[in-house]
Amino acid sequence: MSTLVFVEHQGDQVARGSLGVLGKAADLGGEVGAVMVGGTEVKALAADLGRHGAAVVHVAEDDSFVPALPQPRVDVLAHVVRAHGYDTVLFSNSVLAADVAGGLAARLDAGLNWDLVDIAPGDGSIIGKRLALGDSLLVEVGWRTSPRLALFRPGSFEPVGRDGQARVETVSVELEDHSRAARVVEHRVEADSGPSLESAEVVVTGGMGLGGPEHLSLAEDLAGVLGGVVGATRAVVYAGWAPHSAQVGQTGKTVSPKLYVALGVSGAVQHKVGMQSSQTIVAINSDPRAPIFEFCDLAVVGDVHEVVPRLVELLRARTSG
Ligand SMILES: Cc1cc2nc3c(=O)[nH]c(=O)nc-3n(C[C@H](O)[C@H](O)[C@H](O)COP(=O)(O)OP(=O)(O)OC[C@H]3O[C@@H](n4cnc5c(N)ncnc54)[C@H](O)[C@@H]3O)c2cc1C
Repeated sequence: MSTLVFVEHQGDQVARGSLGVLGKAADLGGEVGAVMVGGTEVKALAADLGRHGAAVVHVAEDDSFVPALPQPRVDVLAHVVRAHGYDTVLFSNSVLAADVAGGLAARLDAGLNWDLVDIAPGDGSIIGKRLALGDSLLVEVGWRTSPRLALFRPGSFEPVGRDGQARVETVSVELEDHSRAARVVEHRVEADSGPSLESAEVVVTGGMGLGGPEHLSLAEDLAGVLGGVVGATRAVVYAGWAPHSAQVGQTGKTVSPKLYVALGVSGAVQHKVGMQSSQTIVAINSDPRAPIFEFCDLAVVGDVHEVVPRLVELLRARTSG
């Protein structure tokens, strides 16, 4: 087995998701290579991938790879796969990685399994695992063509440091004409204040049970006193009460804080998959049969408009005293 992992970076930071997938590739055994594409910053980052399981890192660095567009990366990956005969190519999902994986599948006429959460050896081959039917079932999937392409859910594997050194090899690829057709017109970085949802130790999520955008302040107040960050359900985001960047769940962010407080959140399975690994889950909901009460640690049956202001008051009194 020989596995190639597409490793992404932002500035001088290698994406944690990519490092997690690289570690998983190393656990599977066989030859493990990584590919990094970008500007002159890439080579310095590449050498460190040995500590995450790569034996060789194929580096394509050129100003034409910045800002990041998928098609030039498809050219690089297709070249590396063909030149070195990799039989498996793994990606940690991101907007860019999904485009590159799809493009590579088309270019190599290869099968792509997406949204996988795990991969394991089996039956002389490897087996991918993905959740189905609203994440209530774990199903096994395989590949009929080579190379096998797989795109993993973000956060599927934690990066683990290990001993090892990687050989860095420069790749030089002639880009296809059509790969130069697109250009990035504008690049905006969303203003960020405080810790991100993914790194916060406390997340307070507002659901439709808040009753209106003006009541999102309940979540903000509680997050403020607990030193946390505000999250939202998809229903709240769709209602325009909160930005998509705050969405927790299957189509939003995956969080695992020490404390997760859900205010007026029903606990739909698509929400659950984004927060179920939180250490302690507290739910406040007026419906005693709300699904969230089936998987929370502390269930408070009550109206958020009554319970939350009282809770904030008590916590403030405790922290000021
Ligand atoms: C493909 C797909 C992807 C999805 N992705 C996501 C995702 O990423 N994240 C996500 O969150 N959802 C996602 N959803 C939507 C999900 O199925 C639910 O519709 C959504 O999570 C419900 O949001 P909610 O809990 O805020 O609202 P509701 O389901 O309307 O629940 C509101 C809750 O508030 C309670 N309540 C009402 N009034 C009060 C009160 N005064 N005090 C206390 N409690 C009260 C109610 O009892 C109820 O349980 C997805 C759905 C699909 C089909």
